[in-house]
Amino acid sequence: MNKRELKKFRTALQEKRDAIVNATGKKPHWENMADTRHGDFVDQASDDNEVHVNLKLLQTDAKLLRAIEAAIERIDKGEYGVCAACGEAISVARLKAVPWTSVCIDCKGKKSI
Ligand SMILES: [Zn+2]
Repeated sequence: MNKRELKKFRTALQEKRDAIVNATGKKPHWENMADTRHGDFVDQASDDNEVHVNLKLLQTDAKLLRAIEAAIERIDKGEYGVCAACGEAISVARLKAVPWTSVCIDCKGKKSI
């Protein structure tokens, strides 16, 4: 992969990272809930469900964020686009679809990473 392509991936990864940071940096929904907890039991139950959904989303984002930062690090080290499992080159098509991936499609199929 040439430098121009690497730079494109780096920019795309940074933009994705910024988008996640901006989205999760907002005040968490449940912090505002103290005010809404005076409803009846049914309202409160649905509030709790929303909290679970929010927490789940945040965990997914944190995982993705780590993967993106690791990918940017690999670009800086010159290791980007090489499968962490088998050492073969990851196809550019796969990197375009999932730029933060660290394994090729074969290894992903085998290990379900
Ligand atoms: Zn592989």
